[in-house]
Amino acid sequence: MPANRSLALVVRTVDVFETSLVVTLFTRELGKVAALAKGGRRLKSAFQGGLDLLGVSDIVLLPKASESLDLLTEAAPVERFSCLRRDLAALYAGYYIAELLTDLTDYHDPHPKLFDAARITLRHLGDPGLRARRVLRFELACLREIGLMPLLDRCAHCGEPLGDEEAVAFGPATGGTLCPACRPGQPHVITASRRTIEGLQALATPGDAWREMGMSGSELATVRQTVGAVVSHVLGHRPRVWPFLGV
Ligand SMILES: [Zn+2]
Repeated sequence: MPANRSLALVVRTVDVFETSLVVTLFTRELGKVAALAKGGRRLKSAFQGGLDLLGVSDIVLLPKASESLDLLTEAAPVERFSCLRRDLAALYAGYYIAELLTDLTDYHDPHPKLFDAARITLRHLGDPGLRARRVLRFELACLREIGLMPLLDRCAHCGEPLGDEEAVAFGPATGGTLCPACRPGQPHVITASRRTIEGLQALATPGDAWREMGMSGSELATVRQTVGAVVSHVLGHRPRVWPFLGV
């Protein structure tokens, strides 16, 4: 089989044998792949820093037949995110991005837009003022890419546009906002304020409006809980990095 070249974000590494690694890579062109990096733990490995967690590398993969890992033959570092080395909160947010990419996407299912979104988010995690919003935008980008973006402007059950009620029913497990008629009988429905839904809409919209939206810390925390409920539902568990995520 021919070798494949791609840009890749290193999202997980596991030591195997004495000197090798199994790396999980979120590649731009090939989607998520798991590959064996022979000798990747040696001090003077051929990969020379190309396997650092949360770094972007230019990689070459030799695909293997089914039931065995691809073989990683090259990994040259392309971009390192210095904020992750300086700032523990940025590092945990980076781990969260890696967890989402690992657990929300399938092997060999490319999402180049999501790769680009991850790269841009990682670049800017050092800014504490916008970090929480950037992470939220990335979570929403993930949900959109895998086709599970919650509806925010109409009822997820009957499709009717939302009214102007101050309290809006939101079903993390049922596809988004619900009208008063459809709410009864739906599982795990939470009540969100209109501000929370508007905040979500702004964060999910392309352009720069999300930077300017005036939200207090507690309003942002409520948006975070609402998105978190959707992500937890999709994953089937709470994200592992959550207890450390200070956003
Ligand atoms: Zn409805």
